[in-house]
Amino acid sequence: MRRKIIAGNWKMYGNLAMAQDLIAHIVMHRAAGMHVIICPPAALIPMLECDIQDRLGLGAQDCHMEDEGAFTGNLSAQLLASLGATHVIVGHSERRQYQHESNQDVCKKAQAALRHQLIPILCIGETEAEYDRGQTEATITTQLEESLPKKLPPERFILAYEPVWAIGTGKVPTPEEITAIHETIHHWLAKNRPQAGTIPVLYGGSVKPDNAREIMQLPGVDGVLVGGASLEAGSFTAIMEAGEEAAKA
Ligand code: PEP
Repeated sequence: MRRKIIAGNWKMYGNLAMAQDLIAHIVMHRAAGMHVIICPPAALIPMLECDIQDRLGLGAQDCHMEDEGAFTGNLSAQLLASLGATHVIVGHSERRQYQHESNQDVCKKAQAALRHQLIPILCIGETEAEYDRGQTEATITTQLEESLPKKLPPERFILAYEPVWAIGTGKVPTPEEITAIHETIHHWLAKNRPQAGTIPVLYGGSVKPDNAREIMQLPGVDGVLVGGASLEAGSFTAIMEAGEEAAKA
């Protein structure tokens, strides 16, 4: 049985009281059949570390590509690691869109994370316009070629396929589409990064309790990256249970 990875991206939501309450629920529901990673706003990381005590992964949502410097308002990977982070999301579509991050920037951020023993959760995914033009596979392949570091340590890297048009919209690709793109990604990795072993590939985009199990049972889907539904204890723990069932199936 390969444990499913359930990652929650809290984005810029929450505060300390809400975070501690939510973490208490998640820790209670944690089970052997899954690996849960919580990515709260970075300021909460040192406050949540003692509640988590290695029972969950704790991720940031971004890091700077440099280890230090005059970059007002940014956070480095080495700082995040020193605060207790174990993972960091890089290349989320909201950062690609609003902070204009390129594939090359994302690659440098992933390298910075790796330098400081953080596990990157690197996001790729096509926009709605690219999907409508039938360019999903071409977009994903370019993102893999340009944003994935050449040297990947085995067991210390996670990819997330997140179609931009599915994030926060309630729209989800068909099971056939998710399967096909995950197959493309795993095939690309086996051919181009064989030394890295089997890198888990998550699906993200409007994952909810009612579709989580079906999605995680699809071939090549190693878990999910959850945005909106990770902010509510009942829905996130239901997705965790779906992950456990999917791993057993
Ligand atoms: C995300 O922000 O990575 C995400 C998948 O969001 P949502 O689950 O809300 O679509």
